[in-house]
Amino acid sequence: MHQSNPKSSTHLMSAQSEVPEPLEVLKKHFGYDSFRDGQEAVITHLLNGQSAAAVFPTGGGKSLCYQLPALCLDGLTLVVSPLLALMKDQIDSLAERGIKASRLDSTQTLEEYRQVMDDIRNGQLRLLYVAPERFNNERFRASIENIKVSLFAIDEAHCISEWGHNFRPDYLKLIEYAKACKAERLLALTATATKDVLKDICKQFGISSSCAVSTGFYRNNLTLRAQAVKSSERDKTLLSLIKSADGGAAIVYVTLQKTAEHVAQFLQSNGRDAKHYHAGLKDDERASVQDWFIKSDSAIVVATIAFGMGIDKSDIRAVYHYNLPKSLENYSQEIGRAGRDGNPSVCHTLACSEDLIPLQNFIYGDTPSPVALTKFAQTVFSYDGEFDISLYELSNKCDVRPLVLRTLLTRLELDGYLKGGTPFYANYQFKPLMSSEEILNRFDEDRRQFIAGLFKQAVKSRVWFQIDLEAASTALTSPRQRLVAALDYLGEQGMLEVKAAGVRNRYTVIKQPDSSEALAQALFDDAAKREAREIQRLQQVLDWISLDKCQTSALCERFDRALEKDCGHCSYCETKSPVVVAKPKQNSVPDGVLKSAVALQQSNREVLATPADVTRVLCGLSSPAFSKAKITKHDLFGSCSEIGFASVRDQLQRSLAING
Ligand code: ADP
Repeated sequence: MHQSNPKSSTHLMSAQSEVPEPLEVLKKHFGYDSFRDGQEAVITHLLNGQSAAAVFPTGGGKSLCYQLPALCLDGLTLVVSPLLALMKDQIDSLAERGIKASRLDSTQTLEEYRQVMDDIRNGQLRLLYVAPERFNNERFRASIENIKVSLFAIDEAHCISEWGHNFRPDYLKLIEYAKACKAERLLALTATATKDVLKDICKQFGISSSCAVSTGFYRNNLTLRAQAVKSSERDKTLLSLIKSADGGAAIVYVTLQKTAEHVAQFLQSNGRDAKHYHAGLKDDERASVQDWFIKSDSAIVVATIAFGMGIDKSDIRAVYHYNLPKSLENYSQEIGRAGRDGNPSVCHTLACSEDLIPLQNFIYGDTPSPVALTKFAQTVFSYDGEFDISLYELSNKCDVRPLVLRTLLTRLELDGYLKGGTPFYANYQFKPLMSSEEILNRFDEDRRQFIAGLFKQAVKSRVWFQIDLEAASTALTSPRQRLVAALDYLGEQGMLEVKAAGVRNRYTVIKQPDSSEALAQALFDDAAKREAREIQRLQQVLDWISLDKCQTSALCERFDRALEKDCGHCSYCETKSPVVVAKPKQNSVPDGVLKSAVALQQSNREVLATPADVTRVLCGLSSPAFSKAKITKHDLFGSCSEIGFASVRDQLQRSLAING
């Protein structure tokens, strides 16, 4: 049964009154005079009780589409976003407007969690932000099923679609969760959905096509340019483009972290105000680069795609692609950060076919081999009933990358083989911040004994003490939860620094497959399809760059509809000729390498079962099994990294057929 929410201070609808006029709410609570394109249509659908989709460009004002209804509807608005860290600013700015919103994440204590749930139940909290992973937590699922959810908003909704560029199967589970909490209406939000992806979103979430609001893709202040370059000339070309621009802040997108560092260094040594940014930097370093970029009107940030999400800077004058983007969806998301103030801005791509190889290798590297998948299926279904597993260990055991493994497990959940439970930490680590005597002296006799017993269970490594909670719980005849609560308390009080480690995922086997080989084959077919789709997406980027018609119009057509007339300022419109990108050189694998590769396979049949496995070695794509078998140290490892996966595989296949 749903609990009803009593009227709260920010809650605008009383039992008798009509739903308030959206425009009035906008003025009164958000201080804006008018709606932006698309907002009113989406909000009206929602307030009429219908589910809706909002496809607006980044910065287009999607958040208002759930923030405003949250004030008008009588239940909770639950916002699911994979970018939870970026939601902090939103929550703070809502607080400034007197609207109470919170987020739940894994760093919160039980006490904080209870507070949030209490605030929801007594109607104080209008909006709750959570990451999709939160639904893996059974306690959260159970709590939310007892709360009236008026609106279930899903950010980055394109992740639900297999046709999208960032398919995340865990998004498909959101549909089940939305049903389980009897959400009255759904809102799917995204900045990048092709027509097919939008159709898929609507189908999956049961949104009528008349409630899918797309604000159009065309932005006439963006000039889209592309030019073919040799990789040796890229730095020079980029510098001259930057010099000839009128100044202003810019983002240079690259594929690899080391390229970000190299290019930023190059620009600095040429007198430019440049810094690099990538996921390898520490949190505070990243925050400081962002801060510097946001405040400056001449900063150039050289970044991997980790940069840009949630950056609210309207005067970015140029976005350069030093390397090719992975797909046209990625491209449009990345250029979407330019010129949000409506002033002219340039998006310039340096097209170099050598980029294809590392980009393709990322894709091939994620495809598990049939042997790995068979091992995966056998391992998972060696269990019956409930079991727990560490993704890290499973990844090593089956030789599948952890992220890919997560996708496979989700697939099994969606196909009804498994049911996921709450993940838990197998062990804790702590570092005393004072002597154990000092700590123990702070407690009464009973507690002192308990904590002393707990400390005895810990094993010291160099700096940290490790504690296996399962073993400690048995030894102390005390429930695991009590041990965790004690360690958390000592951590909160500044007596210990505490870290949870060794996360384990819990599953229950619902049904066994008829045969693990057949299941492994089905999973492999899925993976092969994904691989082909991603490779095709990459090719579409090159095809678009080399088009012999208006490129802006073609891009608009892919996402929405073609322009009525050509844009007049893309590369094609400016030059009336297509950009010609040289085909990648087809180097052959030296005979000696082929021979050694055949020999390597013969002596490692277990790890290198297929030509694709040997290709991985030659192209330098690492895997847990390769490291274990020391293949990553072999001379052949990475010896063909410049040739390209498909070409190496074809040549190898021929050679293995002759010699194998
Ligand atoms: P998105 O989620 O689509 O990227 P946001 O929701 O973050 O965009 O909105 C971008 C900015 O636009 C925010 O600063 C927001 O306050 C502002 N904004 C949203 N709606 C309006 C409006 N109707 N009038 C003026 N500013 C608005």
